[in-house]
Amino acid sequence: MPKKNSKIIFKRITLIGIGLIGSSIARRVKRDGLANHISVSARSQNSLDRAVELGFADTVTLDQEDSVKNADLVIICSPIGAYSDIIQNIRLGLKPGAIISDVGSVKQAVIRDLSPHIPEGVHLVPAHPVAGTEHSGPDAGFPELFEDRFCIITPTKQTNKKSINQVTQFWQSLGSKVEIMEPNHHDLVMAMTSHLPHLIAYTIVGTATDLEKTLANEVIKFSAGGFRDFTRIAASDPTMWRDVFLNNRDAVLEMLQRFSEDITALQRAIRWGEGDTLHELFSRTREARRGVIEAKQEKMYD
Ligand code: NAP
Repeated sequence: MPKKNSKIIFKRITLIGIGLIGSSIARRVKRDGLANHISVSARSQNSLDRAVELGFADTVTLDQEDSVKNADLVIICSPIGAYSDIIQNIRLGLKPGAIISDVGSVKQAVIRDLSPHIPEGVHLVPAHPVAGTEHSGPDAGFPELFEDRFCIITPTKQTNKKSINQVTQFWQSLGSKVEIMEPNHHDLVMAMTSHLPHLIAYTIVGTATDLEKTLANEVIKFSAGGFRDFTRIAASDPTMWRDVFLNNRDAVLEMLQRFSEDITALQRAIRWGEGDTLHELFSRTREARRGVIEAKQEKMYD
């Protein structure tokens, strides 16, 4: 007998990909009884076995088409580069009226890859929870990951209001604050707030590891001077981030161009001893930090 629960928006949920994000959704749904059934698919049997051991999957299968049968909500939680294959694998298994959503960090490319393959009567509602850590895999998730964090929904021209409302309610039940945004705007904002910072972290840590051995060892030893925070970000999943940069190329290049101009200006200010320029910038950036704290977005995982 299915459980009666007023919190249930989708009775049967399928998660394709059960890493940090997928397993955090599953844990929260299980903990709060937000669905009657969670079906899980992934790339490897190891991850599926782990999902069963950890107790947040009701059924698991490597057969992706089978995993979406009878699902009311399917959420793709894999790296973005796998979406094209996944949609081809599942499209015939989706039931009419089902909602297909995702958690990808880029939205225009996701819509480009998914929309042409969405069957008649199935609703695509792309989404991006702006929450994460540098850890990956089914063990990395935790049910509070989305608490007080934004989830951005980027509907397509075909997405109907009812599906948007249902997905909105679902993310709210996971603890998120939901914003609706145009996909291209999402990609531009994320290029600045998330993708460029990751690129900078990868670069700084890469540069440090290229230093001659003694100097590189000193960098690690004295990392509390600022370097440490970059190493956390630069430890993020290489596959996920490769796919983000390849799929948000234009917006990242645009923000990188601006960043390069600004860093060149700073270089000049240091060379010419223009202390006022430096002081004025560092005062403005301090204000930006206050804004982040006021928006309650300062938690150490992002
Ligand atoms: P993750 O921990 O590395 O997990 C990825 C999952 O996807 C794994 O379960 C993996 O299966 C599965 N997978 C990979 N290729 C697949 C395929 N071809 N078919 C089916 N499953 C496949 O990654 P994550 O951090 O949860 O990220 C997942 C998505 O969330 C990405 O699109 C990312 O852009 C987005 N996102 C991430 C963050 C973050 O901070 N990490 C934040 C917001 C959004 P196996 O375990 O079997 O290999």
